[in-house]
Amino acid sequence: MAPYKSLEEYNLEITDEVKNRYSSIINEIGEDVSREGLLKTPERAAKAMLFLTQGYKQDAVEILEGALFKESYDDMVIIKDIELYSLCEHHMLPFFGKAHIAYIPDGQIVGLSKIPRVVDVFARRLQVQERLTHDILECLNNTLKPKGVAVVIEASHMCMMMRGVQKQNSVTTTSGFRGQFEKIETRNEFLKLISAKLS
Ligand SMILES: [Zn+2]
Repeated sequence: MAPYKSLEEYNLEITDEVKNRYSSIINEIGEDVSREGLLKTPERAAKAMLFLTQGYKQDAVEILEGALFKESYDDMVIIKDIELYSLCEHHMLPFFGKAHIAYIPDGQIVGLSKIPRVVDVFARRLQVQERLTHDILECLNNTLKPKGVAVVIEASHMCMMMRGVQKQNSVTTTSGFRGQFEKIETRNEFLKLISAKLS
């Protein structure tokens, strides 16, 4: 079962449009789009961009609602180290890192694989890390209606590393807490668990 649409399912008309724009950009930066190595680059770049922004066409609520199960388990569920790749909306350069997510169920749980998919739906758009954190948090809170939800994202931003301040080792951390995680003891337990090395 493929979690994502294959590239072939993209609207080819849009791909052509985007492809032509990439051709112009390559020209404008002083390159020769007709040289061998670049011949297929506009098309590949267009497909890559459509892949990296496919989240606009996906519905995170639908993904979650398709995998809700009644369950009386009411302790903290934590999924840590979820790989995350997004594009900053200011420079359209990648930012990437990890998301750590927890929730405390209130009568229903969700299939565990759905949470990383929700991360991807919101990450595969033009984003800022703060809004990405908030989008995931609110979506889980409104759909799972848990007793609490927590999201922590740690990410490195290529726009800082390759240009601008060129701070190569800085990691930006953002977090959001709802419900029981607004209580300091619950929040601390979560933070302790995501920073613990189990292996
Ligand atoms: Zn940026």
